[in-house]
Amino acid sequence: MAAERGYGDVERVREATDIVAVVGQYIALTPGGENLKGLCPFHADTKPSFTVSPAKQLYYCFGCGEGGNVFSFVMKMEGLTFGEALRELAKRAGIPLRAAGRATPQERRRDRLAAVVEEAARFFEANLRASDQYADAARRYLLERGLTRETLDGWRLGLVADSWDSFLKHATRAGYEAAELEEAGLVVPSKSGPGYYDRFRGRIIFPLWNASGKVVAFGGRVLGDGEPKYLNSPNTSLYNKSTTLYGLYQNRGAVARAGSCVVVEGYMDLLGVHQAGVENVVATCGTALAEEAAAILARHATDFVLLFDGDDAGLRAARRALASLLARGARRVRVGVLEAGRDPFDVAAEGADALAAVLDGAVDWPAFVVELARREHAGDAVGAELAAIGELRPLLAAVPEELERSYWRRRAAGLLGIPVGAVEAPRRPARGAGDVAPAAPAEHSLLRILIHCPSAAAECLAEISPEDVADEQVRRILRVMAKLVKNGPFSAVELLDELDAADAGVVTRMAMAEAREEDAARAARLVVKAVKQRALARRNRELRERIAASGGEYDEAAPAIRELEEEQRRHIKPEGGG
Ligand SMILES: [Zn+2]
Repeated sequence: MAAERGYGDVERVREATDIVAVVGQYIALTPGGENLKGLCPFHADTKPSFTVSPAKQLYYCFGCGEGGNVFSFVMKMEGLTFGEALRELAKRAGIPLRAAGRATPQERRRDRLAAVVEEAARFFEANLRASDQYADAARRYLLERGLTRETLDGWRLGLVADSWDSFLKHATRAGYEAAELEEAGLVVPSKSGPGYYDRFRGRIIFPLWNASGKVVAFGGRVLGDGEPKYLNSPNTSLYNKSTTLYGLYQNRGAVARAGSCVVVEGYMDLLGVHQAGVENVVATCGTALAEEAAAILARHATDFVLLFDGDDAGLRAARRALASLLARGARRVRVGVLEAGRDPFDVAAEGADALAAVLDGAVDWPAFVVELARREHAGDAVGAELAAIGELRPLLAAVPEELERSYWRRRAAGLLGIPVGAVEAPRRPARGAGDVAPAAPAEHSLLRILIHCPSAAAECLAEISPEDVADEQVRRILRVMAKLVKNGPFSAVELLDELDAADAGVVTRMAMAEAREEDAARAARLVVKAVKQRALARRNRELRERIAASGGEYDEAAPAIRELEEEQRRHIKPEGGG
């Protein structure tokens, strides 16, 4: 297995990679003692329970039990195999891999697609900077609407001519195949015959970035009055609409610092709000906030302000978005309500003060839900109340923490002037904490000691065999340790590469716990003794059972039993008074 993975590569990549930097791309981490903490990306976390140790280069979630090293983190987050995660991290660190680490055909194709998309981004950017009438008009339009040149450059805005094939021609000259361009979502096969045409025509182009800062897709706003007003890249192997948030890559630091995030719907809204000095903002790319995107946001912040258009569609979208965010563990969701016909860009264009006033005046989610129900049932007080209760119940049920749920229940009841019981949410089943099955404490102690003190592993594993251990999980992990220890001392991080997810979780949890190392070696000897005793006792019992089953042929078995009992005595005898 080690040879397959190219061990030299794994070590070099590991040395060049800091788990804090990698995890920090996906979730906001804040210092807490010697570790960093954040909201777990693998369960609906409100605590935060996710812990990253820079010293140990490990992560562990005290909520759901997920744990591992930087490779397992990337594998899990991106759905990659070990080899793919290795290559991804090698790329990040700028480390060329040896033969064993070479890319698969699928990865080479993805790299090629990423190159196509980057080529397109440069082409669109150059178009907007060109000195022709068309580019002049587009630039004038954007600047007149209030965007600055700095914003145009910083966010790599682009332009594409109102032609069927300007990009297709450019990309073909640059050596790309039409089929690749289609796979990247940039051209569309012609319906009326052979050939392809450009997907984006006559539009301002907004590049969309993935979590690691690569342009993976585009949004296009029509220049003039054409339809549709906004057009996005389709899903490709690089781009998933439901998980991509415009501005998250650029603004994740600001979101983490603020602990809160403003969510808008459109590209222009985001750029306007950002320009007005509010940098902790992301946009949903003009689509509804998908469940997956809500889950991603809930990893980056706990507090949200939704700033959607002031029309009916915008208000309803805000109600859906707040439901998704609450279900994903957001603690505080507020809605900045705009007058009908106004959007966040208009407000931001009036200046930082106007924007701050709207954000400060945002109402909490129960108030928003009640207000929206009253609007939708104007003149029908009973209908409004019933609708509001119907909307609030599932939202309240989605709040994971009992204390908060109870607070919001009282808040909602107060808004409607009804008893708390009337908005009672149905009970939620308690969430499992992903606990490991209880096992022999001595065996777990042994494992903990070996993880914290791998130098003791050689000595211990010479004394006992993994097969002496009753607990299956501990036995599996010890087998891997026994294999690794043949090449000298190993770290917990290396051990993790050889374990499956469940075993890796147990190992990381133990590795992240504080260790008292001063008497680890002595403790190890004691634990070895305990484990050995249990193994001997078990063998003794088995032997006696076999004898009993065979009809009492004691004489034949007597020497074996005597030997076992002798060994047991040796192990029970106290050693140096310990
Ligand atoms: Zn978790």
